[in-house]
Amino acid sequence: MSNPFSIAIHGGAGTILKEQMSKELKQSIISDLQNSVRAGYKVLEQGGDALDAVVAAVKVLEDSPNFNAGKGSVLTHKEIVEMDASVMNGEKMQAGAVAGVRHIKNPIALARDVMNNSKHVFLVGEGAEEFAFQNGYDYTEQDYFYTERRYEQLQHMKSKGEYALSESRFPDDKKFGTVGAVALDSHGNLAAATSTGGITNKQFGRVGDSAIIGAGTFAENGNVAVSTTGMGELFIRKTVAGDVAARMRYLQEDIQTACETIIQGELKDIGGEGGLIAIDARGNVHFAMNSSGMYRAVVDIHGTETVKIYADE
Ligand code: ASP
Repeated sequence: MSNPFSIAIHGGAGTILKEQMSKELKQSIISDLQNSVRAGYKVLEQGGDALDAVVAAVKVLEDSPNFNAGKGSVLTHKEIVEMDASVMNGEKMQAGAVAGVRHIKNPIALARDVMNNSKHVFLVGEGAEEFAFQNGYDYTEQDYFYTERRYEQLQHMKSKGEYALSESRFPDDKKFGTVGAVALDSHGNLAAATSTGGITNKQFGRVGDSAIIGAGTFAENGNVAVSTTGMGELFIRKTVAGDVAARMRYLQEDIQTACETIIQGELKDIGGEGGLIAIDARGNVHFAMNSSGMYRAVVDIHGTETVKIYADE
């Protein structure tokens, strides 16, 4: 039997309330999740690299207006889109990240290029874009990212003077919408990728966990790959992705114990809401969430595909 390989993705923790989810929207979200996980799995099936698989999967979600990443990103206080993204390759513990980019169609690809083609790990704002254009990226107008839905959400948040996760025009339920992927390839490599528009009405160059290695993204061969979603400030303070890896590395916890201890325990204890996806060195996948749901999909080591939205599914 060949070596196991598998991929899992998320489209954000916290989901549109069941009663507010139309049939058409649900179908559109499910088909995006399927297209994403299949794009990543195809890379793995052909013997490709875990990093290429997670980037391929995330790009599909960045290109859909249904998620808070790339097209469809939430708007800042100044009514523009500013995106964060990061990748990590578990083979050599290499990582790349960008924050506050405004004119890059696929920030996840840029994060990978920062990792592969610069001497640095983390580039921000104008500098990140200068690096992108020097490396042949097209300039993408803000109009491309803009959606009416995000504009309405921003006006709602501005009127309340609050910050919010991506679907928070329904104040009784918190929504997130960031996207991410984790994969194990047939060569035993683990990789993780996360991309986001951040939170609605963010100000002052705010950066969330999705751009931060060890908070929103982490991958380490022989151990685990993790991508998170939730209110980034709390995920940064708890270094969530890195802590999952540390628990497994130092305490020899299994993937489920490590993820649940943090999401249902330590993170929740400080008021953190959200979730994560993780995959271990044998291809076991775990989805953890303390929110009402998380858009998610997996193709497991047996090639079985599963797509889910709500926590109780
Ligand atoms: N984690 C993201 C951030 O705080 C938000 C999200 O998950 O939707 O920027």
